[in-house]
Amino acid sequence: MTEKVMKMMNTDTIEPPTQKKRRLGVELEKTIGNTPLLYLESISEMLPENVHAHAKAEWFNPGGSVKDRAAFGIIKSAEEAGALDNGKTLLDASSGNTALAYAMIGASRGHDVQLCVPENASREYIRMYKAFGAKVTLTPAAESSDGAIKKARELHREFPDRYFYADQYSNPANWMAHYKTTAPEIWEQTDGQITHFVAGLGTTGTFTGTSRWLREYNPDISLVSVQPNGPLHGLEGLKHMPSAIVPGIYDDYLADENLEIETEVAQSLVKQLARQEGLLVGMSSGAAVAGVLEVGSRLDSGVIVTVFPDNGRRYINEQFWSEE
Ligand code: PMP
Repeated sequence: MTEKVMKMMNTDTIEPPTQKKRRLGVELEKTIGNTPLLYLESISEMLPENVHAHAKAEWFNPGGSVKDRAAFGIIKSAEEAGALDNGKTLLDASSGNTALAYAMIGASRGHDVQLCVPENASREYIRMYKAFGAKVTLTPAAESSDGAIKKARELHREFPDRYFYADQYSNPANWMAHYKTTAPEIWEQTDGQITHFVAGLGTTGTFTGTSRWLREYNPDISLVSVQPNGPLHGLEGLKHMPSAIVPGIYDDYLADENLEIETEVAQSLVKQLARQEGLLVGMSSGAAVAGVLEVGSRLDSGVIVTVFPDNGRRYINEQFWSEE
């Protein structure tokens, strides 16, 4: 490598891109959202003639999941409020996708990131958070995501001046991100024809934000939430509300219907989506499809839209893929 290139690679001497005169391309954050709406052929085939199923393919986001929307919304609103001023570190708990989104967007926007993550979270994901420069504190596996939340709260209590506690479970910027982006995209992509919206509950940001906007635009749209049918489940990203720390942003008056899904049903639908639609998705997408089938089977006609939060690469070592 020449001395000149070596010098350029010293980050202290790199000219910040904003100061360069001719710029092509866009910032990373501009690639968040505007995900494709996929038609689910094999799922629609299982439903009555005039009932059609669709899903937002959220793994098209740059961090590979729906959580890029929420993390960006949270970071942007914190920046606007000055909450990340003076080099404050963004702190939050997440077992997967949000953590990656914070790490990625934090790196892109120059914020330090501290994550509390259950120790049984995917090794590859923990390595990716660190690859983006985030600091990671592991919490006991047995306490799952609630243990990570407790640790984040503890750190914030101890060092309130050091951290901005993003608190995705209570931060309204989480659901607002979906209110501002996911919902209008669905409306536009269905030409306003959507009749049913089905989504899983984790932090509940996706369901709450998208549903609120859709309800305002057309109160006739049915809003259906999906969650695991018990506290011990394999639907990563989703929460069983009766046994979990209930997210502060959860609005239990919003849904017209709440469905509880068995892990095995979701897993078998994940397999169907892979083999019949060419879509390798996560277990929470399988749960969403279980909800779509339940709702759709009762209709004469309908345009059902759900959200596929991430793809299945991250879960390919799950036991259910070995059972063939
Ligand atoms: N599925 C997966 C894979 C997720 O990572 C999440 C986020 N926890 C969800 C579903 C639920 O999304 P939300 O937090 O917006 O309710």
